[in-house]
Amino acid sequence: MKKHISFLLCCLMVIVSLTGCTTVEDNIPEQENNNEENNVSSVTTSTGDPAPEYTETLETDVLVLGGGGTGLTSALTAAEKGKNVILVEKLGYLGGATMLSAGIVPAAETKQQKEANIVDNQDLFARDIFRPNSYSVRKDLVYTVTENAKNVIEWLEEQGVVFNLVTNNLYYGQSNYRMHVAEGGGQGLTSVLIDNANNNDKIEVMLNSPAIELAVEDDQVIGAFVKRDNKDIILIKAENTVLCTSGFGANKEMIAKYIPEMINAYPYVAPGATGEGIIWGQNLGAAVANMKAYQGHGVYSEELKGSVDLNILYRGGILVNKNGERFTNEHKGYSELSPEVLAQPDHHVYMVFNQANADETAKFADYDAAGILIKAETLEELATALNVDQEKFKSSINDYLDGIEKGQDSLNRTFFPEHFDGPYYAIEITADLRHTQGGLVTDTVGHVLREDGTLIKGLYAAGGVMEGFSDTAGPGYMSGNGLLQAFVFGRLAGEYAATTTRAEATIVNLE
Ligand SMILES: Cc1cc2nc3c(=O)[nH]c(=O)nc-3n(C[C@H](O)[C@H](O)[C@H](O)COP(=O)(O)OP(=O)(O)OC[C@H]3O[C@@H](n4cnc5c(N)ncnc54)[C@H](O)[C@@H]3O)c2cc1C
Repeated sequence: MKKHISFLLCCLMVIVSLTGCTTVEDNIPEQENNNEENNVSSVTTSTGDPAPEYTETLETDVLVLGGGGTGLTSALTAAEKGKNVILVEKLGYLGGATMLSAGIVPAAETKQQKEANIVDNQDLFARDIFRPNSYSVRKDLVYTVTENAKNVIEWLEEQGVVFNLVTNNLYYGQSNYRMHVAEGGGQGLTSVLIDNANNNDKIEVMLNSPAIELAVEDDQVIGAFVKRDNKDIILIKAENTVLCTSGFGANKEMIAKYIPEMINAYPYVAPGATGEGIIWGQNLGAAVANMKAYQGHGVYSEELKGSVDLNILYRGGILVNKNGERFTNEHKGYSELSPEVLAQPDHHVYMVFNQANADETAKFADYDAAGILIKAETLEELATALNVDQEKFKSSINDYLDGIEKGQDSLNRTFFPEHFDGPYYAIEITADLRHTQGGLVTDTVGHVLREDGTLIKGLYAAGGVMEGFSDTAGPGYMSGNGLLQAFVFGRLAGEYAATTTRAEATIVNLE
């Protein structure tokens, strides 16, 4: 075994029983007997229940649970610090939601911005993150990500990721061009990290090996129980354990409990995001925060199996429900739109737009080829084709046309196209849920904190499993928050887990 010491405890137990060693054991109480044999009888799970039966004990310096963007970053960072790492992933592949993402990371004052003569700073960056949540989230977390984002981009570049600055599309709510898109998107970005982890002598990757519980001794986390190859349970002991298991987007029960408004959302979530890391932390008395916060996307087409171009709305497209009524100012963030779409009859609505808008939509031909466009020459014909109430539809459209003339409509929309002349198109859409933004409360380097503010020694949380900074409840979200949280805290947690012993660990505030 190249990176850890393996104790074949079960073999030892078998040998002991086969050799008929009855004299000593028979004379001591059963509990002491366990202690003497494997020295772990006082190990429990997070619930305080006795350890499950396990076949082997491995030891490492840093144990990383979950192999998405956060886990890969933590593992590579801990290995950089010279530590041995075991990275366990419950699925048969690494990457998680990070691989599904667009691979776009916001950062200020980068070389790419300087090359493009873009003057930006961390304060503007922080304000853009605070605005969607009305400045309600933890300031220390936000300033930690804004201050570390540039370093994270540079570290990812050292890993081999190539970033280009997006300068032709100012993301909704952002005051500057600061989105750095990885070549190959989320897939390209994660494949670089996966290759590096697989080729790193200090990192042992175990696929198809879910952590099933934390291992706890004397109120400290000393590792985890892992079902290796989905077969035998093993105990992996570590000086520090980093939870990188993400949120609970794929756990229907938890969505129903915390975010019922999204229960009917199309689940565009990573399958591994089932929330157990959060539950284990809670079992140990950890505080959770922002459990009602999430990132949705308001324009998902089930026929297309993906999002429709949101800029259609920003260029003057409107949303009409199945009664024929508009229901919101469409010029807002994609996540904010998502619960409003889901609240409509049948949880589906129509995105309606005109020819001038279609002419500027690069993917229009793809939508046509995919057969998702409903076409009409006039608004009356469109209402008939959509089978919506003609009068309601007409009144909604008249309100919008009035808005174009006056600069504001009854839904408080103030951003309009020059005209809304036909021909017209409609696409049926719903909203999706991508990931949750609440979780375990940590300090600014990922130490998990109890309700009383003390830290749980040996346990770190980073990425989607930790308290987010997008919103305290609801869909408030700034584009890029998910990956910022994954990479910045993955890096910090990996560094501290590698360089601080359990005994030395203290609360850190980097703000
Ligand atoms: C479709 C989609 C698009 C997105 N687009 C963007 C975007 O463009 N920009 C952005 O900033 N954010 C985006 N996000 C959000 C972003 O991807 C996440 O916030 C981020 O990737 C979370 O990283 P993570 O490492 O915490 O989780 P993940 O990358 O999901 O990794 C968690 C890993 O832990 C594993 N795991 C879970 N439980 C266990 C267990 N018990 N034992 C072992 N392994 C376990 C999972 O299988 C998974 O591999 C998107 C999300 C989705 C779903």
